[in-house]
Amino acid sequence: MRHTRSQTKVIATIGPASSSKEVLEKLFHEGVDVCRLNFSHGTHADHLQVIKNILELNKELKTNVALLADLQGPKIRIGDVENNKVDLVEGAEVNFVTEKCIGTAERLYISYQEFPGDVKVGDFILVDDGKLKLQVISTNRKDKVTAKVIYGGVLSSKKGVNLPNTKVSIPSLTEKDIEDAIFALDNGVDWIALSFVRSAGDLIALKDLIKQRKKNASIIAKIEKPEALSDIDNIIDMSNGIMVARGDLGVEVPFDQVPLIQKDLVARCIAKAKPVIIATQMLESMIISFRPTRAEANDVANAVFDGADALMLSAETSAGKYPVESVNAMQRIIDWSEKGFHNNRETLPVPNTRTFLPDSICLNSCRLASQTAAKAIVTFTNSGYTAYKISSFRPQASIFAFSRNPALLRKLSLVWGVRAFYFENHENIDDAITHSIEVLKDESYIKDNDVVVHSGSTPFEERGQTNMIKVSYV
Ligand code: PGA
Ligand code: MN
Repeated sequence: MRHTRSQTKVIATIGPASSSKEVLEKLFHEGVDVCRLNFSHGTHADHLQVIKNILELNKELKTNVALLADLQGPKIRIGDVENNKVDLVEGAEVNFVTEKCIGTAERLYISYQEFPGDVKVGDFILVDDGKLKLQVISTNRKDKVTAKVIYGGVLSSKKGVNLPNTKVSIPSLTEKDIEDAIFALDNGVDWIALSFVRSAGDLIALKDLIKQRKKNASIIAKIEKPEALSDIDNIIDMSNGIMVARGDLGVEVPFDQVPLIQKDLVARCIAKAKPVIIATQMLESMIISFRPTRAEANDVANAVFDGADALMLSAETSAGKYPVESVNAMQRIIDWSEKGFHNNRETLPVPNTRTFLPDSICLNSCRLASQTAAKAIVTFTNSGYTAYKISSFRPQASIFAFSRNPALLRKLSLVWGVRAFYFENHENIDDAITHSIEVLKDESYIKDNDVVVHSGSTPFEERGQTNMIKVSYV
């Protein structure tokens, strides 16, 4: 099985509702391209079993579903609370303490040791996805911060805390993240996401770790802090892709700003040929309902219209009642939206850069494909560079990447429009082209008399930069 459906890719978070091989197989059939392992939940043993199931299914179904490990990052939480339920009443004062305790309406543990030193009077404390809001009235700068409840409510154990105004001093890659990253890398994940990135420098430690372990996983920077927006171009340059992590982002910056931020981030990523993921609450109501709301269907469609590479499901597939229906719904909305809408993008190659010639080849492959109504653009790639680049022009023709590098095949499943194939060594470019056409014909991606555009490099054995284009009839 190879799903031939959308250009926009689908990411499903795997959890208790979807970790069995039976459910995973259904998700594959519905069109999942990437499985996300969320390291905020589950044990390494749980994740290992999921990885094993996915790799087995890839073999059995001849798919290249990718693995994305999502590291928790410096997520701040409150501790356990009395009877798993305390009521914070508007106007009341609450102490946040850094010493572990069972929480009450007067005293809550916060998992951030430097909080009393980092916080300023007047800063806001948002709890449980922003449902509760408090404001700091004093700190002893040691182990206790006192805050007043502005919007109250019932609080259960271990809820997340967002501090939109506080300059949080916790490093981006925590001890737990390092352990999780090593586990994920050693088990061959393709993508690794870092949460709460604030600046491009935050990515260095993870980059070094990947190098140290001699792996080639690519990095996704999750954009969910206001600071990240101020350093966004450097972050995009330093990472291999980004996630618009709307869950925390919409709490850390005013929610009314998120739609335009989403559009801006997608446009910046496409211009830099870096994949961009739209995440969180895309089909939220499907956690408990078998069909989405009309607003959710519109949100999914609009992310397609923005030009995002991939759309992500979180609790819908990891913990919800309808994981299979959620992927089916997302895929159907994508399929239909792509039918009636197309937006080509062109970024002109920059003279006097190292990639000027290959960039020009990629751009003109797309222009040729458009002019000749080609069905397919085929690229031969070792690094994946030309696949990312061609994808960034969002051509109407299908993009097929042939690579000798097996590590690329799954990784490219995250990238808009790209489908990857392994190919053995060939003597010369003509043999490689003939072989690629046979493969695509066998899989019914193309048929006789279709126009196909190939790009690659000659002399073939030198594996140099892309330097040729061929247009032909099948
Ligand atoms: P999370 O990240 O689900 O790990 O919190 C996504 C988001 O914040 O939107
Ligand atoms: Mn988040």
